[in-house]
Amino acid sequence: MQVPFYRHDLTAEDAAEIVKVITSPFLTAGPVCRRVEDQLCRYFGVPHAVMVNSWTAGATATLMAMGIGPGDEVIVPAMTFIATANVVEAVGAKPVFVDVCPRTLLIRAEDIRSALTPNTKAVIPVHLYGQMCDMKALRDTLPPQVKIIEDCAHCFEGQRNNERPGKYADAAIFSFYATKNVACGEGGAVICSDTALYERLLKTRLHGMSKSAVNRFDGGQYNHWDMECLGIKANMSDILAALLPRQIETIDARLPARQEKAAIYRNAFRGGPLRLIENDPACISADHLFTIHVPPAVRDEAIAALIGAGVHVTVNYRAVPTLTYYREKYGYTPDDFPVSHMWGEGTISLPLYQSLSTQEQNYVIKVVKDAIYPLCMEINSVDLTAARA
Ligand SMILES: *Cc1c(COP(=O)(O)O)cnc(C)c1O
Repeated sequence: MQVPFYRHDLTAEDAAEIVKVITSPFLTAGPVCRRVEDQLCRYFGVPHAVMVNSWTAGATATLMAMGIGPGDEVIVPAMTFIATANVVEAVGAKPVFVDVCPRTLLIRAEDIRSALTPNTKAVIPVHLYGQMCDMKALRDTLPPQVKIIEDCAHCFEGQRNNERPGKYADAAIFSFYATKNVACGEGGAVICSDTALYERLLKTRLHGMSKSAVNRFDGGQYNHWDMECLGIKANMSDILAALLPRQIETIDARLPARQEKAAIYRNAFRGGPLRLIENDPACISADHLFTIHVPPAVRDEAIAALIGAGVHVTVNYRAVPTLTYYREKYGYTPDDFPVSHMWGEGTISLPLYQSLSTQEQNYVIKVVKDAIYPLCMEINSVDLTAARA
């Protein structure tokens, strides 16, 4: 049996939404993006939403709108996708990595405190794998001038203490990349409450232009645009955004299916040799990824065995500061981030999506137990022997 790592569930109905856009005058940011922005404002209970063409572009435009650049520091977790740190580098600021909680792999207020300096301008907490960081604790801990930008790429529909992303942050940023829980190929959105930041973001999202193509003809005449600040090209296309309204309307109704499949994995592996992350009882996870951890010495062998058996897996993620670019530029060593490093050297993500069938999931579980458990036990017994010697 072949079990793909990911399978989207877009339908002919979704394709029809794309056709509607193609037969309208607007191919880029237009009425469909506007409609999705309204949906996001309602869903998250915030006054402003800005569609962007990726999380990465949205975060870059947000940092520019906040005036963050050379000489500034931005705190990011060591366990995340590289984009979280890369956007900080891209605007010329310095990403300051901190290690994460060994149980949940989320960044905590106490991890951040020691990394704060007078140059700290912002923190980008990441709701890794779908569980939300404790945003209230972060906001209460950080000095008021330090901005918080939530990386919600894994957590659209998750909650902590019945609160959704966006409540305590200056901005919260989503990704609609191909494999995310809400996906349209490429895309993203920034939500925020501060109107001044929103207005700057509208400019940094589009070259720093004072008027977009839509409002250049307001009042039936041509209005010259000006460039008031530096921006990038981050606006979203209506063609892709057309895939989002239905997904956002149904996202809460679709969550139980993901939760159920995550719980099936969790129960199947309980008491076995794999390490799993802990579910924080305060959180409703968006269950974006289901990750397991095996002894680092057998990780590559485990991946090869899974793929050999038709179970397609991936790695989310190796610790970012230990990757060549960051290691060479800042001289980090694995010992600087022991939790992120240890997790990153042993983690494997299993298939988890709505259309994963019971038969497919049972097959994944069987392959893990038959092929991966023995590898882990062998290593664990070697470890014990070494410890005794
Ligand atoms: C996918 C992802 C991103 C980047 O999203 P894009 O829309 O592809 O730019 C950022 N952070 C995390 C944690 C991600 O998983």
